[in-house]
Amino acid sequence: MVRGLERYEAINRGEAIAKFQIARRMEVEDFLEQDSDEGRLEKLWELHGQYKKEFSRLLKEEGNNPDFLDTPPGSPSFLQLKLALLKEMLKNCNFCERRCGVNRYEKTGFCKCGITSYYSSEFLHFGEEPELVPSHTIFFNRCTFACVFCQNFDIVYRNDGRVDPEELGRVIDVRFRQGSRNVNFVGGNPDQHAHTIMEILGNVESNVPVVWNSNMYHSIELHEVIEDIVDVWLGDFKYGNDECAKHYSNVRNYWKVVTRNFTLANRTGELLIRHLVMPGHIECCTAKIVEWIAENLGRKVRFNLMFQYYPTFKAYDYPEIARRLSGTEMRRAMEIASSKLTNLV
Ligand code: SF4
Repeated sequence: MVRGLERYEAINRGEAIAKFQIARRMEVEDFLEQDSDEGRLEKLWELHGQYKKEFSRLLKEEGNNPDFLDTPPGSPSFLQLKLALLKEMLKNCNFCERRCGVNRYEKTGFCKCGITSYYSSEFLHFGEEPELVPSHTIFFNRCTFACVFCQNFDIVYRNDGRVDPEELGRVIDVRFRQGSRNVNFVGGNPDQHAHTIMEILGNVESNVPVVWNSNMYHSIELHEVIEDIVDVWLGDFKYGNDECAKHYSNVRNYWKVVTRNFTLANRTGELLIRHLVMPGHIECCTAKIVEWIAENLGRKVRFNLMFQYYPTFKAYDYPEIARRLSGTEMRRAMEIASSKLTNLV
């Protein structure tokens, strides 16, 4: 059993229920009647807030009762209410803390996403952390960051296959029958596709845990909506300060946003934190991140210290990161992590 991922593993054993399957079965009052745009967002937020309490109660009472899966889907369901809310939020997009405020039905913001989502591939991934494999990984296009060293730039900066939520829902069921232990939404990044993912999950029958593989830069509003469907937050913790984040990923307020989101995620879900060690950034990033995690999330949090950084994409324009890690840097990073954290992958 992996410490910190006990509920996830209980879902794998069929002894607990994936959160979205509870949200999918929870019936809510008919909000679809409210056609007019006026006040719709506020009304949906209000309803969502009321039903969140009911959801927490259901999760507590029925979350470990596999018989609850016999309950038919709600009509409309809490999951559909979340989808309606996200679709409304898209009119003034604040899915991530860039808060572009664009109407994504008409144009795109920083991430270059409208309302249609695209993905490059889906498959059973055997290269993730041992407790996740085989992981049904779905690689969405586009990202809310602009990392100069992006290891997935071939996925991020284009639109490949258009997502059909119904079809992808069925594919998730097929992969589950083939042995997937989870469905892993990644990219790029999943946050800007939250509405599409909510719609996909509405079409999934399997009791499969949801892994949200994110840069953790989503807005507090988006967190409020998606926390009830995420079982495991597979969060990237990239930088130990705002300067490095701005320099390499063109992002502001990184530290405040990401530490807030990890703190919130730790309250309602299970965590697996990844940190890609970067050359020359051991003391300013690795050490600061490890220290913060140990003090704020606890020494036992599941933590993957990753050494596979290699210069790619635009990294050669930044001479200080245009190389692989040295042996000394790897040893130092490992020494820092193992001195403060006790649950390393
Ligand atoms: S998801 Fe973020 S980057 Fe994309 S449009 Fe919305 S606020 Fe902007």
